[in-house]
Order: sequence, then C-alpha cells, then structure tokens
Amino acid sequence: MDEFELIGRYFKPLNSAREEVSLGIGDDGAVIKPRRGRSIVVSVDTLIEGQHFPVCLDAYSIGFRAAASSLSDLAAMGACPLYATLALTLPGLDETWVSSFASGFGDAIQKSNTVLIGGDTTRGPLSITVQIIGDVEHDRHLSRAGAKQNDIVVVSGTLGDARGGLELLSGSYGYRDKLLLDRFKLPTPRVTLGLALSGLASACIDVSDGLVADLGHIAKASDVSMEVKISSLPVSTALIDYCAKRKGSSHGEYAATGGDDYELAMTVPSDAKARLEEIAEELAIPLTVIGRVVGNRGSGPAVRCVDDLGKGITYDSYGFNHFL
Ligand code: ADP
Ligand code: MG
Repeated sequence: MDEFELIGRYFKPLNSAREEVSLGIGDDGAVIKPRRGRSIVVSVDTLIEGQHFPVCLDAYSIGFRAAASSLSDLAAMGACPLYATLALTLPGLDETWVSSFASGFGDAIQKSNTVLIGGDTTRGPLSITVQIIGDVEHDRHLSRAGAKQNDIVVVSGTLGDARGGLELLSGSYGYRDKLLLDRFKLPTPRVTLGLALSGLASACIDVSDGLVADLGHIAKASDVSMEVKISSLPVSTALIDYCAKRKGSSHGEYAATGGDDYELAMTVPSDAKARLEEIAEELAIPLTVIGRVVGNRGSGPAVRCVDDLGKGITYDSYGFNHFL
C-alpha cells in the first residue's frame, strides 16, 4: 500500500460532503466558501511522540487526543469548529496503526461536526500536526485579554485527572483507573460550552499546560492578577482516591498544576453568575467558581494560590513549558 492508497482508504472518508466545501481531500488545496457575517478562527498544534504522549499510547487514543486537543483551542475561542487538516509524519506505513489512528481521529472530529479537508503525509519520527479552522460571529470571539477586576474565575469539569491518567499509563503503580486513563487518552473538548460563553466570559483559555500556568496567560494578557482558592478546585473522587494511594501526592496540587485536562478556565463578570449556572445546567457541564480577579497586575504573582485562610500556597512547578 502506498501513501495515496492510505490517504484514500483511511482519511478521505473523514471528509464527509459539506455544502460549503467546494474542494476537499485530493487536490493541491482545499476550497471553502466562508459563512456570511462570520470571522474565521484558525489554530494549529503539533504532538510529538515521547513528549506530548508516551510511546506506549495506543493509535486510537493518539488520533483522538490529537483532534480533541486542537478542537479545544477553538472551544476556548468561543468558535464553532468546522474543518481540520492533518499533517502526519509516520515512521513507516503500518496499516493497522493508521487504521486505528484514523478511527480515533475521525471519532473526535465527528463529535464536533468537523470534517477533514486535507493534510500531508511524510516519513520520519511520529509527529502529528492538526489544524482546525472554524468561525465565529464577527467580534464575538473569546480571548485571553479582557479579564477585569472583581470578575469571578470559573473552570469547567474536574481538574488534575489527566495528569493522574498519564502517570498511570507511564508508571507502574499497580493501579488502574478507567476514568483517569480516559481523561488523558480521550479528552472532551468543551466546544458547546465555548459557544455558550461567547458574549458572557470576559476572558477564556483551555487548560492544557496546567490551571495556574494557563490562568497566568489570561492574567498577563488582561494585565490583572488573580487569586485562586485551592480547596475550591473541582476534583473527581477517582483523583482523590489515586492521590490518597500515592502517598505524598495532593489532589489540590494535581488540580492546580496538572495539564492535559482540556477544560475551559474563564473569567466572568460577577453579576453573570446566574446565567452561568443556567448554562451549566443546560449543557450538563459542571462550572465551579474557583477564585476572583483581585486587581491590576502589579509586581506580585499573576496568579496567587491560597488556602481557606487566604494564606499563599506555592508549588514546585506550575505546569508544562517546552523550553524550561
Ligand atoms: P501535494 O503533493 O500537493 O502536497 P499530497 O500528495 O501531499 O499533495 O496530498 C494529496 C492530497 O491528499 C491532498 O489533497 C492532501 O490535502 C491530502 N492529504 C495528504 N495527507 C493527508 C492526511 N494525512 N489527511 C488528510 N488528507 C491528506
Ligand atoms: Mg503534500
């Protein structure tokens, strides 16, 4: 089987017909008719084996995660994802692997009604680059800038699970937990939530590097400082159990600093709390108030973690950074 047969068999089926796609997979470029009155939103992400996921991860999960983590960026922008492109570098043409990968990738994009419109396939160490193209009503996108003093800080879902899952995958603690593993392997991009937050959240980001690190990006872009109460962070019982078994681990630290959860962290004007509760109910996605914007960005920390008495808590590491 050559590259073109592989693309035809496994990737072309992910390009389901869509009226506004004039030309999809098979030509030198894809052609799309943009939707009237809407701005285009584009994001691209690369995943490298051994760096963004362990070498032992199965092909289905690699495909699913690659798509889901990129879709999560569009969610954080309050945008509607529409099209994906996929640049795949493979060590060889292993058809079984590609078939599982494509099925994971396809499942993740289909859940968000996104179609694959093109890509590139090359040979080399395993690396996956996914671009998502979407749109949003003009001037209704969310961004990292816009948080204001006294806004509440809110996060969706639970935090820290994916870090627990990654440790279970890579380590040998003789312990398995499907929820934690699935939270790393098959993350849920919060696309419908992002759409609902448009016009409501003053700033938004997806939690990929770790909550405190990612809130730090909002704080810097918005020129504000925040306070986050660690005991308020939403955690699953699976994570609490796991941390209790791993002596010396605190679930608060996992929630504050663990990455890869792909939840949305946002700031919202405090008078919009009731609307936020309605959204949480409508979408059946938990939304938890975890802190507030305390003031303009001074010389202190962008994000201060505190205990119930308001005393500062520090951690050894606040999240992932490629070049540290
Ligand atoms: P070119 O030589 O013009 O770069 P390619 O041979 O790379 O074209 O790709 C042929 C067609 O297959 C293009 O339409 C491209 O978008 C598509 N394609 C290649 N690899 C993938 C992939 N991994 N997923 C989806 N489409 C792909
Ligand atoms: Mg090419």
